[in-house]
Amino acid sequence: MKYLIQNIKITCEDIIILDLMSAIKEKMIDFLPGQYAMLAFYDENGKLVSPHAFSIASSPENVPLIEFGIKIKGKFTQSLAKLTPGKEIFVYGPYGNFIFDPHMDRDTVFIAGGVGITPLLSSIRYAADKKLPNKLTLLYSSRWTDKILYYEEIKKLEAANPNFKAFFAVTDSGIPEGAERMINERLGAKIISAALKNQLRGKTFFLCGPGPFMASITDDLENLGVEKKFIKTEAFSMIPALPLKEDLPNLALVYGGFAALMTLVTLWIYNIESARTTDNTYARTNLIYSLKQIQELQKNMFQEQTSAQPPTAPAVSNAPAPIYNIPPTPAINYQAPIRPRTTVS
Ligand SMILES: Cc1cc2nc3c(=O)[nH]c(=O)nc-3n(C[C@H](O)[C@H](O)[C@H](O)COP(=O)(O)OP(=O)(O)OC[C@H]3O[C@@H](n4cnc5c(N)ncnc54)[C@H](O)[C@@H]3O)c2cc1C
Repeated sequence: MKYLIQNIKITCEDIIILDLMSAIKEKMIDFLPGQYAMLAFYDENGKLVSPHAFSIASSPENVPLIEFGIKIKGKFTQSLAKLTPGKEIFVYGPYGNFIFDPHMDRDTVFIAGGVGITPLLSSIRYAADKKLPNKLTLLYSSRWTDKILYYEEIKKLEAANPNFKAFFAVTDSGIPEGAERMINERLGAKIISAALKNQLRGKTFFLCGPGPFMASITDDLENLGVEKKFIKTEAFSMIPALPLKEDLPNLALVYGGFAALMTLVTLWIYNIESARTTDNTYARTNLIYSLKQIQELQKNMFQEQTSAQPPTAPAVSNAPAPIYNIPPTPAINYQAPIRPRTTVS
């Protein structure tokens, strides 16, 4: 859906606060507190960038205006920061199950790390707009006091809603003197149970922030006896970019080309394989043929052998046997020599 930038400002050095107004009043996204949308826009080179996910920070009661709190990181967010009021932004959605349900979540604890405050703020603003009786507690972790996103507004919401209390844990800087419910300590089990006066049962916990932060808070909550089913989380990990309608012809070309290439490769492999199989068949046929030939040859040889005549005895002749003149053997006269006797005395 097409939206127009109503307001865009950079706060806390690296956070864009982006207010969008629906370009056509009847056409706007219908979301629940905690959900997110995918944003796309034409960058400075006139190229439509692929959509990226961002939680909606405003209350659903605030439509047709929607607000986002966006940390400047890479190319996408840097290009976004250069946009000016009146520029078009395409909003797809809403998406997500990280939804605050006022009927179910009667007693809710929101735990935020840095820019992870955005979906939680949507719920807190919604509760204020609707004057909900739900009991809400916010535990917000930040590195620096001057980088607590939406600090002023949170304080105002606290003043306006007696059912809402906010606690701040700051790690990397000191805290202003007399700051209410602000502690110079890392957010963990100790601060959570102190803020909730050890009453953790019957509460729903919503966690949003960097991955390691959420993992450590989930461990703390489980160690404090909170069941997993009462812990809801939203990870701000990168969602693979959606293909844009404008990119579809190019994508079709790329994927079509790839499919054609794969078909060619498959056919080529198939040809080699079938040629090899044919060769094998040919070789096998030849072998069978040769074996047959050998068998035939052996059979022929055997037949030749069995049909061959046994050797015949030479014919007996009646002619007289030949007479041979053999000279008589000479007689041998041998006399042993006589040796003289010897006596031993
Ligand atoms: C459901 C959901 C809600 C979100 N809500 C918010 C919000 O309210 N505010 C906000 O500031 N951010 C939010 N994010 C995170 C946000 O989508 C990304 O941080 C942002 O799109 C990154 O912008 P970029 O300029 O770095 O993008 P690119 O220029 O496209 O990023 C460049 C590269 O940086 C890496 N990268 C950047 N961010 C991340 C990340 N978060 N995780 C992993 N890799 C990353 C990727 O490799 C990416 O390809 C949300 C994410 C999700 C999934």
